[in-house]
Amino acid sequence: MRDEEIMTSIIDYGTPRRDRPSLATVSYADLKSGSVEIGGERIRTSSLSSYRRARAVAVELKDWIERGKMELALPTRRIDPAKRSRPMRETAITPRVRDIMNRQVISITEDEEIRVAAKRLLKDETNHLPILDGNGTLVGIITTYDVSKAVVTDGRLRQVKDIMTRNVIKTTPDEPVDVAAQKLKQNNISALPVVDTANRVVGILSAIDLGKLFGGRWQR
Ligand code: SAM
Repeated sequence: MRDEEIMTSIIDYGTPRRDRPSLATVSYADLKSGSVEIGGERIRTSSLSSYRRARAVAVELKDWIERGKMELALPTRRIDPAKRSRPMRETAITPRVRDIMNRQVISITEDEEIRVAAKRLLKDETNHLPILDGNGTLVGIITTYDVSKAVVTDGRLRQVKDIMTRNVIKTTPDEPVDVAAQKLKQNNISALPVVDTANRVVGILSAIDLGKLFGGRWQR
């Protein structure tokens, strides 16, 4: 069997749940190539242990067994195929971003004028506008702060793409709420666009939504 034929799922072990979602399905050949694509982004890969050394150990063990230096023992107890083991019970249910995010996302495209963005922020009484490209993919974010700064510092800036923040800190529907809250705190921001695996915006999580956890309005 070749590496191209062995398929596996990429799981995010940061999700503290047994039914962790699969982020992508890749082959061993993909993993060994040095990078894989997840949600439109190239992610570097590397092995946790040395493949070369593992092969060396396997070859040495085979040699020991063949020379009778290491004997294979009979199993002390056979596994009962009729018995089924149940996974351990999860102790706490952690709320996910999907449980509290706002699904009504107000967005704008990068080619719009800053004036249009300002009007939209005002009309919808929001502080954050995710910026989408022509394909509906997230490419930036602007806030009331960026619009005010553009007006005050440089009147020549015209389009949303001139002032947007391109390196967007984002979250996913499956991310535990406490992980998302940490991102807000660490980056001194108050909202995160929620994206699917194709980097399309499916919601927005703001500090206001986090308040739902404390007002008794969150229920699974
Ligand atoms: N207190 C405001 C807030 O919560 O957004 C302003 C502080 S924050 C340092 C201002 C900058 O953060 C703006 O330039 C804005 O574009 C950027 N920003 C806001 N949310 C962001 C996010 N999710 N990812 C990346 N940058 C973000």
